[in-house]
Amino acid sequence: MEKLSFRRLLFNLMTSGIPTDEPLQIRRLMLLNAFLMIGIFAFSFFALLNMLEAERYVIAALDFGGAALFSFGFADLRYTRKESRARAIGATALVLFMVLFMPYNQNHDFGLIWTIFPPIFLISLYGHERGLRWSLLYYGVLFTLGIWGLFRWENPDWNLIALMRFIVASLVLLLVVYVTEYAFERMQRNLERLSIIDPLTGLYNRRKIDTLLSQALEESLRHNAPFSLCILDIDNFKQINDTFGHVVGDRVLQQLSALLQNELRTLDTVGRWGGEEFIIIMRRCGTKEALMVLERLRAHIETYPFESALKVTCSFGLHGVMQGSGDKQQLISCADRALYSAKSEGKNRVALYAPAA
Ligand code: GH3
Ligand code: MG
Ligand code: MG
Repeated sequence: MEKLSFRRLLFNLMTSGIPTDEPLQIRRLMLLNAFLMIGIFAFSFFALLNMLEAERYVIAALDFGGAALFSFGFADLRYTRKESRARAIGATALVLFMVLFMPYNQNHDFGLIWTIFPPIFLISLYGHERGLRWSLLYYGVLFTLGIWGLFRWENPDWNLIALMRFIVASLVLLLVVYVTEYAFERMQRNLERLSIIDPLTGLYNRRKIDTLLSQALEESLRHNAPFSLCILDIDNFKQINDTFGHVVGDRVLQQLSALLQNELRTLDTVGRWGGEEFIIIMRRCGTKEALMVLERLRAHIETYPFESALKVTCSFGLHGVMQGSGDKQQLISCADRALYSAKSEGKNRVALYAPAA
């Protein structure tokens, strides 16, 4: 049995018991849970303070309402696992509270300080784009109430200078949070790209192809549709390297990759499996159609003007997969066996996998 450590329990609490090792989902869940827990704690604390100490019952009631909504969001996330609903409950409760709190509390006890915080949560929970839109809308309402307060509130501390300070402080906070989130998302996109792209050819790498193959298998099972899997290998590539050097070899790999990407249909995905081998996944494509597409591709490669007027040919091993039968390893080894046949039958040809009778 797995040891129940404090860290494990804390992790479980912060991720609502949702089993995942996807870093971005973990970050989102942790932020959301932190937001909801801070909300429950802060609203409960102020509800008690306002009721027992300050005897401001209307604000205490609003605080209780906020605590109740945040608790509901927290429990709802844990039991229904609907991230977007819990996020909407928390964000709406917070924004509504602030918009009601501001004209009621006015600037007593410097209470307005609380109203500038929501964008921290809006941007980190909704991302830099949507979060900014919501934040600007929220600040728009807030600043309008502040201007209205200049004429209505009976509070000597609330004047034009105070309003300006309030607006500038809010916008500085918004800018810092926005830039931080934007930089994070950008870095994340770059890292994601680096982890799935082969640097030499710009095609998907083996890791990504592996994931796409699992998805194609699943899709094929779900929709009861066939798909085709092809491994292609450049013929006598070692000889090209040996005769013209590795730099020319690399350029041939790049040119062939570009050619494959241009020639294949939008539903087809191509990736570099390793060395001078590539994999093509052809979704919703039966064997007959795949054979036609690959034959056309083979002929095109044969006549393509490669680097240094080189003649390059490829061999293709095709496996037609009916309704997601077999597992990933099996499918690849079938396509590989077909490729082996294409090579042994003289190269520069397409061979279809045929199970031994
Ligand atoms: P066959 O027709 O049987 O496939 O013969 P081949 O020469 O293509 O196959 P072999 O497996 O003997 O050689 C593959 C060569 O591919 C050997 C290796 O140096 C070369 N290679 C693998 N990756 C790269 C690369 O990134 N750049 C270059 N230039 N060569 C590479
Ligand atoms: Mg090879
Ligand atoms: Mg080869």
